[in-house]
Amino acid sequence: MATDLGGDFCLVCGAEPPLFGDRMCEPCLRARTVLAKVPENVPWVRCARCGIVEIDGKWENTTEDEVWDELLHRNLVVHERAEDIQLGMEPVKVSDRHTLLHIQLEGVIDNLLFQEEHTMRARMANGVCLTCTRRAGNYFEATVQLRSSARRLSEDEFTKLRRTLDAVLEKLSDDPMFFITTEGPVTGGYDVVLGSKGLARAWGRHLVNEYGGMVVETNSTVGRKDGVDVTRLTLLYRKPGYEIGDVVHWRNHVWRPSAWTKDGAIMERVDRRERTGATWRDLESAKVVAQRHELVEVEFVNEDASVGEFLNPTTWTMESVRLPYEHTPGRTGLLVRYDDAWLGLPFMAMDAPEPPEEA
Ligand SMILES: [Zn+2]
Ligand SMILES: [Zn+2]
Repeated sequence: MATDLGGDFCLVCGAEPPLFGDRMCEPCLRARTVLAKVPENVPWVRCARCGIVEIDGKWENTTEDEVWDELLHRNLVVHERAEDIQLGMEPVKVSDRHTLLHIQLEGVIDNLLFQEEHTMRARMANGVCLTCTRRAGNYFEATVQLRSSARRLSEDEFTKLRRTLDAVLEKLSDDPMFFITTEGPVTGGYDVVLGSKGLARAWGRHLVNEYGGMVVETNSTVGRKDGVDVTRLTLLYRKPGYEIGDVVHWRNHVWRPSAWTKDGAIMERVDRRERTGATWRDLESAKVVAQRHELVEVEFVNEDASVGEFLNPTTWTMESVRLPYEHTPGRTGLLVRYDDAWLGLPFMAMDAPEPPEEA
């Protein structure tokens, strides 16, 4: 602040007021004050294998412009009394490794406007990030085993399951350990070996939410490092091989799942009116007899109280089947081949013909 109290003068040259800051006249203050200090050279490290950048000890996927901003904010030291700071920067590449950052800066110290230009040389060094180090060493923490229950899945179905990992990876933060070490088909399934247990568990949760079924975790100790057990996780996911409306053999009878529940399915028995809730664990022993699209729909030519006759649509011969317990005369039949014979299925809500439109 300018001051006019009797006898004040510049402590450096003895000039008359106005005086600023540490009781100096403007020329003396300007001669002894810099708005900002920047180092001449600043190093930064980029992974030579994958191109990600180390910032403050963390490896991040970032653009060069973000690197320049980061280097500027980390290295620019602004005068402690400076206010209203305006900053501009122009990067000029001089070689693959060297970039000059031209900085224009203005700010106010003790009511005096300062304008400065600085140049900082950003020097890139090659490094190898944690992910690439561990990938190169075939590092892994977890194996996810994709399998199925009740029916063997097709290769396409496994491909679809595997693809959900890409979606999970996209949604998660870019943790450097979220990588795939190896993967490939195995007998009856598909295995994916991962750099992170957290990633394995996140994918497991996603699979259960999306397709039902359950995950079984096994931890094994593979050694000790720095006094701590080193463990590996094996995560077995079995996708239920049945959908709502399929026909399954379970607990010595034939059933159809009619709805999913939080931890399993509602099962409806085929040979009598019975419905029960079953958990995924209960259903581990189920076997698919037929998928819903494999069921055969027929018109009955003759029917009595218990048996219906129909024309087999593939062989064009007359055959007969025991009518399901809730059959109503004249209704179509929904049949499945079971134990070398036809089995008539009671209708579930999803099988019933569309109800007539309400008037
Ligand atoms: Zn002075
Ligand atoms: Zn890397």
